[in-house]
Amino acid sequence: MILGAGYAGVRAAQEILRTLDDGEVVLIDRSQYHEVVTEMYRVAAGAEEPSGVQLPLRRLLAQSPRLTLLQAEVQSLDYRAREVLTDRGRVPYRFALVALGGAPEYYGVQGAREHALTLQYLDSAVRVRRRLRALKAAKGGGRIVIVGGGLTGVQLASELAEQMPETFDIAIVQAAPTILPEEDKQLAGYAQGELERHRITVHRGEPVSEVRAHSVQLKSGPEIPSDLTIWAGGVRANPIPKEAGLPCDPRGRVLVDAQLEVQGHPGIFAAGDIAHVPSGHGETALPPTAQLAVQEGRQAGRNILRVLQGEEPAPLHARILGMAAALGDRHGIAHVGRFRLTGQVGHAVHELALLHYLYGVGGLGLLEREAYLSWTRPPQEPVAQGTPRRAGTSA
Ligand SMILES: Cc1cc2nc3c(=O)[nH]c(=O)nc-3n(C[C@H](O)[C@H](O)[C@H](O)COP(=O)(O)OP(=O)(O)OC[C@H]3O[C@@H](n4cnc5c(N)ncnc54)[C@H](O)[C@@H]3O)c2cc1C
Repeated sequence: MILGAGYAGVRAAQEILRTLDDGEVVLIDRSQYHEVVTEMYRVAAGAEEPSGVQLPLRRLLAQSPRLTLLQAEVQSLDYRAREVLTDRGRVPYRFALVALGGAPEYYGVQGAREHALTLQYLDSAVRVRRRLRALKAAKGGGRIVIVGGGLTGVQLASELAEQMPETFDIAIVQAAPTILPEEDKQLAGYAQGELERHRITVHRGEPVSEVRAHSVQLKSGPEIPSDLTIWAGGVRANPIPKEAGLPCDPRGRVLVDAQLEVQGHPGIFAAGDIAHVPSGHGETALPPTAQLAVQEGRQAGRNILRVLQGEEPAPLHARILGMAAALGDRHGIAHVGRFRLTGQVGHAVHELALLHYLYGVGGLGLLEREAYLSWTRPPQEPVAQGTPRRAGTSA
């Protein structure tokens, strides 16, 4: 039983189905699509169609007679009875992989949940897109405040400025002293320069104390007016493991061992943003990224097969391959091994990383379809001056 068809869940299902010759895999997700979450900022900014980030699960997985796709909302996990409770009934399992992903982390900031939108899922990215269009139609623009100067906030701000130049006053509010604090200093400096070139204001070292309907209150005193506030401030785990009584860290991530098995619960595995996977350095966990979710999902799938065959599960050997981010249409930053890349080369690495992912999850067929659609499909629902660069798969 695999809960969640995101980066970790889909890869685990593919891994198991490749060699499973007896038994059944049930993959449960509320959506019939695998969503390419890393591209949500482009949907929000109007550079990508919503259908471009939706990969139909049936096409990705359903060739196997051993797979059942169940479109349902997971409500809870009853590990004593070995059952998952969904809005479509109870589903029994022998082995479970919990891969339900993350949820926005609001750090208890008052009003954030009520008044800010996020990019966590496609429906929320589409809400951002609609609000931007409505603002443009009603007022010709407005003030956008993005809370969070990590990869999501910086990519969104740059893309917005590029797709709709001169339309919005964009500000990023960042609690840490710099943007992209976890990245290389030189690359963070380049990104800061790009934001300045796009006339995006960055408030650094400024934690937010409250989000209101039309403003963002900084702890230091000033109140920034905002027509639309977008929360890109952090990730915590989906609450289901905690509510089920599984052992979790303070961010709600379920504690797993190096084999990705939930501590004290043999037969239940967890992977991706929902899991606290030991990094091997003290008490810290691996970061919540797509590339690690894929590796964790793959290893969890392999381990379920190993246990089925009577073998011991094997530890995950995680490899952080690097980082890449787009800063609008032509600029980007990338960090691959000892190389630090900026400008068009950095942007090209970002695009290659996406193609690499699409190839990994959907093979050449998906890449060919992507290329075909991007050449033949006329842009839909144009947003201001921007045109979709790449139309992806549709249902
Ligand atoms: C806007 C944004 C930008 C990002 N950019 C990058 C980036 O550039 N590079 C990078 O490496 N990482 C990036 N990340 C992080 C990356 O997307 C996550 O680490 C990755 O998606 C985690 O994969 P996952 O499989 O754990 O969860 P997800 O991919 O989120 O999948 C979880 C799945 O569970 C399903 N689900 C959740 N709850 C339920 C329920 N109750 N019932 C049924 N189904 C449910 C969802 O529909 C979803 O399909 C970004 C994240 C966001 C939000």
